[in-house]
Amino acid sequence: MQTIHNFCAGPCLLPSEVYQEAAKAVLNFDNSGLSILSISHRSKEFLSVLEQAKQLALELLNLEGKGYTVLFLQGGASMEFLRIPYNLLDKRAGYINTGTWSSKAIEQAKLFGEVKLVASSEDKRFTYIPKDIIVDEELDYLHFTSNNTIYGTQFRSVPRADCPIVCDMSSDIYSRTFDYDKIDLIYAGAQKNIGPAGLSVIIVKDEILGKVKRSIPNMLNYQEHIDKESLYHTANVFGIYTCLLNFKWLKNLGGVSEIEKLNNEKAATLYNAIDNLEYVKGFANLDSRSKMNVTFSFENDKIASIFDELCREENIVNIKGHRSVGGYRASLYNALSLESVQVLVSVMEALKSKV
Ligand SMILES: *Cc1c(COP(=O)(O)O)cnc(C)c1O
Repeated sequence: MQTIHNFCAGPCLLPSEVYQEAAKAVLNFDNSGLSILSISHRSKEFLSVLEQAKQLALELLNLEGKGYTVLFLQGGASMEFLRIPYNLLDKRAGYINTGTWSSKAIEQAKLFGEVKLVASSEDKRFTYIPKDIIVDEELDYLHFTSNNTIYGTQFRSVPRADCPIVCDMSSDIYSRTFDYDKIDLIYAGAQKNIGPAGLSVIIVKDEILGKVKRSIPNMLNYQEHIDKESLYHTANVFGIYTCLLNFKWLKNLGGVSEIEKLNNEKAATLYNAIDNLEYVKGFANLDSRSKMNVTFSFENDKIASIFDELCREENIVNIKGHRSVGGYRASLYNALSLESVQVLVSVMEALKSKV
């Protein structure tokens, strides 16, 4: 089978070992003679999967023993846009707007209380990350999006605030070292760097909960899910198992600091090409560039259409930009190989002789 270079922004590529192990478990999970699709979420086999997945979720971020609980819930990151204010917004919360996903989170928070826009990059089409954000006023929490999947920008550090910090890390969790322990609630839709779609991973410091007066429906209540250990209702058994396989793959590789080296190399390889070829334009400001989602466009439509043609020839797929930005977007999630990036770069360079 010929290699397909899949730059999909999500659901993302996963390591081939993970596909193979997951496929095996569909037919015969752990030599039980049963499919992973047909075992109880309360069976001891699955409880062990869930336990290991939670443990690795924390271990890989160096968050063990620091007061965090891991939840695997359904609804994707978008569900957290409302679950967060439902559980945490009493009077006023701060939000940083760096693109489509933060805007959606803000829209939902406004249904629950006052939203203070702490910083925004909307004035320049979300091409940059606002600098030197320090929040010293009283807020229930500060929310930011560490990596802007659509625009291709990324925070270098956690903003400073005297209140709990909440972060949507859907598209860069487990891809880099970061001050994870400065964040009180980390959440991510699984389908960008963790596992299959339809699942979210929430890592929450228990001490920030229980401070709002409203009553919270059980399904939306973090405390309820913590008390029931992610088994308030039927868990996404197969999804969580696949996440576990991916976590194990990452641990075997040497963890987040090792994958970060590879991710740095992939991003540098692609950005170098973008900077060296005068007919390619990067979208994001240099100091705000994302190492996970690289957004770019070509000088004109003629070059773009030759590029499309060459991509087809080289089996490069899912590289069109998001409809709100246009151009192209190459997503370099953990499982994407350096070789795929090199093939993409060689296609970009091959355009030299055709323009
Ligand atoms: C993809 C994405 C989302 C939305 O995730 P869903 O699981 O589709 O709800 C939210 N935030 C960020 C940063 C994303 O990349």
